[in-house]
Order: sequence, then structure tokens, then C-alpha cells
Amino acid sequence: TSFAHFNFDEQLMHQIRKSEYTQPTPIQCQGVPIALSGRDMIGIAKTGSGKTAAFIWPMLVHIMDQKELEPGEGPIAVIVCPTRELCQQIHAECKRFGKAYSLRSVAVYGGGSMWEQAKALQDGAEIVVCTPGRLIDHVKKKATSLQRVTYLVFDEADRMFDMGFALLFSATFRKKIERLARDILVDPIRVVQ
Ligand code: AMP
Repeated sequence: TSFAHFNFDEQLMHQIRKSEYTQPTPIQCQGVPIALSGRDMIGIAKTGSGKTAAFIWPMLVHIMDQKELEPGEGPIAVIVCPTRELCQQIHAECKRFGKAYSLRSVAVYGGGSMWEQAKALQDGAEIVVCTPGRLIDHVKKKATSLQRVTYLVFDEADRMFDMGFALLFSATFRKKIERLARDILVDPIRVVQ
């Protein structure tokens, strides 16, 4: 697979070329077409595999379609991740590639300024990259609404469970994640790398 197979438009290809990526990684080859098709997906791939871009590129395409269909308020895409560092990294990637369409991303994590985050949310960021607790704080304070969200990513879902639920047995982790995935996702395609 080459980048041409994804049929990205010139603006997005321009940003990808700037990154000097010569070809998509295996998780991108498999995951991008599935996400572009609108199907739910469970992706299992290591850090460094290019998994972040694998969910960001289709997200940008989706946001551009959705913005036209549903003008209005609140983010269209939400990426939930377990730590502030990861939040900042993903947010940086969203900004880098989101430049293709002048889309705005906000990083919403515990320890950052509540006021600044709320302002960015209200200014109309289409993408929110967040840790779960802080996102809930903002929703409770009505700094944002999630009613327009149609693209949802849980990055490092296993770690999030680890921290949030403090389960003791790894076998239980697995079962809980599998159950959560089954409850939320509709007939997901599983991509293991
Ligand atoms: P990940 O943490 O799995 O998202 O991997 C990210 C690393 O892979 C970053 O350093 C990216 O710049 C790099 N990367 C992502 N996609 C590609 C690609 N198609 N070709 C080369 N490097 C890539």
C-alpha cells in the first residue's frame, strides 16, 4: 500500500509529505481504510508503529465531512488517553496534520489551566484530546458539550483501565476491556499488528 491508496486530498497529502514519511506503516495500511469506511475498530499496535497517525488522518477526513453536515457547536472528535504526556503528544500531531484544513485541537488534561482549556473549547475546537477526569470536569461545568461527537478514540485503553479501575488481575483487565469494547463498539474490526 502507498499513500495514494488512501485517496487523501492534496491538503492532507501536503502535510504528510512535510513529515517525510515515504510509505504508510503496517497499522496505517490496515487501519486507515477501515476507519475511513466508518467501521468501528480495535487496533492493537505498539508505540512507534505509527498508530497515532492511523487514527488522526481518517479523523481529519471525517471532521471535514461532518462539519458540513452538522454545523454547530462542540467538538466532532474526542481522543481519550491515560496521561498528560500522551495528551500533549497526540495534540501536537493533531495540530500538525490538522493544519491541512485549519482545524483546531485542544489538549484537556489534569494539571493544565482549567480556564485556558475552557476558552479553547468555547472558541470552537473541533478536536479534543483529553484525559478522562478533566474532560468530565469541563462537561459538568458546561464548558463544552459532547453532542456533536461522532469520532471517538480510546488510546492505550488497557493503560487507562489499569489506572482508573486499579484491577489486580491481568486476566480481569482483559475481560473488562473486551466487555467495554463489546458494549460500546458496533461490530468492530480487529486489527492486530
Ligand atoms: P506512534 O507512537 O505509534 O504513533 O508512532 C509515532 C512515530 O512514528 C512518530 O515518530 C511518527 O512521526 C512516526 N511515523 C508515523 N507514521 C509514519 C510513517 N508512515 N512513516 C514513518 N514514520 C512514521
